[in-house]
Amino acid sequence: MLSVIIPAYNEGENINTAADTIGGLLERANIAYEIVFSNDGSKDDTWEIIKAKSAQDSHVRGVSFSRNFGKEAAIFAGLEAALKNPDCKCAVVIDCDLQHPPELIADMYELWKTQGYDVVEARKASRGRESLVYKAFAKTFYKLMKSSSGINLDGASDYKLLDRKVIEAVDGMKERQTFFRALSAWVGFKTTSLEFHVQPRVHGTTKWSFRKLFKFALSSITGFTNFPMHLMTIFGVLFLFLFAGLGVHTIVNFILGRAEAGFSTVILLLLIIGSLLMFGLGIIGYYLAKIYEEIKFRPRYIVDEEV
Ligand code: UDP
Ligand code: MG
Repeated sequence: MLSVIIPAYNEGENINTAADTIGGLLERANIAYEIVFSNDGSKDDTWEIIKAKSAQDSHVRGVSFSRNFGKEAAIFAGLEAALKNPDCKCAVVIDCDLQHPPELIADMYELWKTQGYDVVEARKASRGRESLVYKAFAKTFYKLMKSSSGINLDGASDYKLLDRKVIEAVDGMKERQTFFRALSAWVGFKTTSLEFHVQPRVHGTTKWSFRKLFKFALSSITGFTNFPMHLMTIFGVLFLFLFAGLGVHTIVNFILGRAEAGFSTVILLLLIIGSLLMFGLGIIGYYLAKIYEEIKFRPRYIVDEEV
């Protein structure tokens, strides 16, 4: 059986459309399925609508958080709910707003079933309507991610099908600050991809603010690489040469009796060392904060209700 996992945050007007569209498609394709909605602490009537839907449609289940824990947590809650169902053989994660064309689910399922792929990713061939700034931001992020961690996320989305053993592997990772898109690539397994064009949202507006996205990008990059730390070492070596040169210069000046002119050098050196130290401390502090976050072993989310 296929579990369809749908994270939902303030998506009241999309729940029924999503459930009916996806359910109808899978019905016609003759695929046994269930739909698991993860209500990520919505402030609107999302949870009431999910409850009503699940009462009238036996294919629909739902988990509800005690507050907003973010899309990542909602995906993991859905995956864990799917794992609890022994019939679940694979799962698809898809957005609630139908920006991920649901027709692909049947193709992904086919690839999994007939060709034995464990991960079927849907890659964005086009990004849909987004501002230029947003596009540039996304591009830089994916470039940084690729050069620093080697995981190519260009065009990657959260829209993918995972075999049960992949879900178990991803879920088995104990880290709290997850990045689903990269983790499902990191675990490996037999992977293939399909392309899709991002559709316009059916209802409502995006649930991500720029601030939320920026924090997510920063946490994802540092979650997958220690490169910024190495940057410090590289800077250190470079500046060592520079300082050696300046040092020789200062000594020569001293020997020639022109020491007073050296004041400017001293000031410059102080400034450079000061700023470098601050920079380095900042990076170390950032990783320390992350270690602190992980070491707390807080749950990724807290479930309030289930149907
Ligand atoms: N979402 C969520 N928690 C959040 C933000 C978003 O569960 O804190 C869900 C949202 O309901 C949707 C999916 O994540 O199903 C994608 O969000 P959205 O469409 O707002 O993002 P965009 O398509 O603009 O990147
Ligand atoms: Mg969307």
